[in-house]
Amino acid sequence: MREYEEEKRILVTGGAGFLGSHLCDRLLEGGSEVICVDNLFTGSRRNISHLLSHPRFEFMRHDVTFPLYIEVDEIYNLACPASPIHYQHDPVQTTKTSVHGAINMLGLAKRLNAKILQASTSEVYGDPKVHPQSEDYWGHVNPIGYRSCYDEGKRCAETLFFDYHRQHKLNIKVARIFNTYGPRMHPNDGRVVSNFIMQALQGKKITIYGDGLQTRSFCYVDDLLSAMMRLMSSPDDVTGPINIGNPHEFTMLELAELIIDITGSSSELVFKELPSDDPLQRKPNISLAREKLNWEPTIQLRQGLESTITYFDDLLDRNLINA
Ligand code: NAD
Ligand code: UDP
Ligand code: UDP
Repeated sequence: MREYEEEKRILVTGGAGFLGSHLCDRLLEGGSEVICVDNLFTGSRRNISHLLSHPRFEFMRHDVTFPLYIEVDEIYNLACPASPIHYQHDPVQTTKTSVHGAINMLGLAKRLNAKILQASTSEVYGDPKVHPQSEDYWGHVNPIGYRSCYDEGKRCAETLFFDYHRQHKLNIKVARIFNTYGPRMHPNDGRVVSNFIMQALQGKKITIYGDGLQTRSFCYVDDLLSAMMRLMSSPDDVTGPINIGNPHEFTMLELAELIIDITGSSSELVFKELPSDDPLQRKPNISLAREKLNWEPTIQLRQGLESTITYFDDLLDRNLINA
């Protein structure tokens, strides 16, 4: 007989996206039943096509800003466009997705007494004045800028999670995810890893915004998901917010050089204007994740970039970039 652990029915919102589709894979591997809910705004059927005939997998096309009545034991709430190009395309919808989406998923969790995890973000720290960022830092966020629909939407979602926890005794988990990359990232999402790889593979100029000395810390998707799943199964008093990311910090120039080196590309660098509110430095303090989840990332940037480059190379070979 299978253990209870293996028989859970788990909802993944945003399950056809980059992180969500990998999460569906991992949960199915663990023996769970998985319901993937997605409106396919930035996600794609391609990300889950290999799962559509899986007996424990179900896909529902649905927008989380509308109520959802299904029966599940656990909810991973990932629905929300994550790249600036996509979340700024329809900023009002972005805020609605974070805020109304959180209310609906929390309402669902409350009715079912289900455990619920929120994919929050390092953007809640805004352009941080404290470095590295730990969970007790309240952030430095512009409430009226171009990034605000995402940053403030995610901050409000955190507020809702903690109010449902205090007011309705809901079992919540809040993960603050730092920049994550890997196969199934959207090739045209304008993010730095996908941009640089696509440019390098096509011999186009590599676009450095600003002087390229701003930093980010990049976590490979497999490492990230291990932490998220550990957080979901952590004791009830571990609510987070908890930083999940790779503390190894790189400048954008270093990232470009590494990608040029791995691809063997002859692409040159070109310097462009820095977007507004672009954080100068970002690096997680992951002491809490180390302590509470006994977790730390294990995959080096070079290793993770190699598999990501292989994925994009294959998309280009098969002419699937805009498919
Ligand atoms: P993604 O854009 O690939 O995935 C988001 C998914 O949500 C997509 O499949 C999209 O179609 C779906 N979606 C968007 N609005 C929806 C709605 N209203 N209803 C239903 N589905 C909707 O992005 P991702 O990188 O996989 O990010 C997943 C989650 O993790 C997001 O909540 C994001 O904010 C968070 N996050 C990601 C990163 C990162 O570096 N990738 C960093 C911090 C936080
Ligand atoms: N909701 C949902 N599925 C459910 C239960 C609730 O989508 O199974 C939505 C519903 O639209 C509601 C929201 O979640 O507006 C918040 O639910 P809650 O019970 O917290 O508040 P209320 O129903 O009082 O607004
Ligand atoms: N960036 C860049 N060139 C690009 C895309 C992004 O130099 O083609 C920079 C961007 O200005 C930012 C960093 O890379 O400083 C990370 O950008 P991304 O959009 O990937 O993530 P976020 O700003 O949300 O961390």
